[in-house]
Amino acid sequence: MKSKILRGTALDGQIRIFIADTTSLVEKAKDIHQSSPVATAALGRVLTATSILGVMLKGDRHKITTRIHGQGPIGTMIATSNASGNVKGYVTNPQVMVESSTPGKLNVGGAVGKSGEITVIKDLGLKNPYIGNYPLVSGEIGEDFAAYFMYSEQQPSAVGLGVTIDKDYTIKSAGGFIIQILPETDDNVAFILEERIKEAGSVSKLIENSKDGKEIMYQLLEGLHPKVLEEYEIDYICDCNRERFEKALISLGTQELRSLIEDDHGAELQCHFCNKKYQFSEENLEALIEEAINTDN
Ligand SMILES: [Zn+2]
Repeated sequence: MKSKILRGTALDGQIRIFIADTTSLVEKAKDIHQSSPVATAALGRVLTATSILGVMLKGDRHKITTRIHGQGPIGTMIATSNASGNVKGYVTNPQVMVESSTPGKLNVGGAVGKSGEITVIKDLGLKNPYIGNYPLVSGEIGEDFAAYFMYSEQQPSAVGLGVTIDKDYTIKSAGGFIIQILPETDDNVAFILEERIKEAGSVSKLIENSKDGKEIMYQLLEGLHPKVLEEYEIDYICDCNRERFEKALISLGTQELRSLIEDDHGAELQCHFCNKKYQFSEENLEALIEEAINTDN
């Protein structure tokens, strides 16, 4: 089944809700990165949240990148999404293992760490991207994104993210939700929502046990007049190409390119997001030196 995000609203626009089923998308990420269960769970949560942040963008060419660095053994986690919600990401140490104090529950916070930052980079097609850095709350990702909304936009938000991995290491379910209410909304509504979220329990169970996002929305927002606005099909997509790596090589400068020819007789670059390898022969590098000289002039 394709991964999807549902965008909805309730109480005449006072509540906005995003529900993502990213089961197949996280499976693809796991296959690409050959990641351990805890790394898959951590990256899956970040990919899900980043994809939702992507569909929140207004412009077709806008992009969002989130980086989480919590000083834990997983290293740094990066994910990038565009306005269609297509997302890609990676972690420094995809094979990380950490002990868990709760049997059957992956210790995402332990792998990510919590003494660090969440960085959100919004590229809205302007001269400079908008960059915000905020302290991590727990390294469990959901709370960290909720804090980001509070710090950056003064927007109270409930963020639930979850990934459940089966005994055979396939993804049983993955996804999440983001629910936001307008500041002038009655306090009672926030209270009702909090109770509903608590009742619903784990996000991954909710996704596993529901037919689709719509069913989850009606469960969480029952009695608050929920309405579906749009549904997006999303995927893990890497848009890397040879040209981008050529540019990266050119930016190294002629001296560095010469030493790649003399010392290594070529270069091999690998995309962090999809692990695709790009080979550059001595002749290719010579041509890039030419280009570097020409762009300098
Ligand atoms: Zn790639």
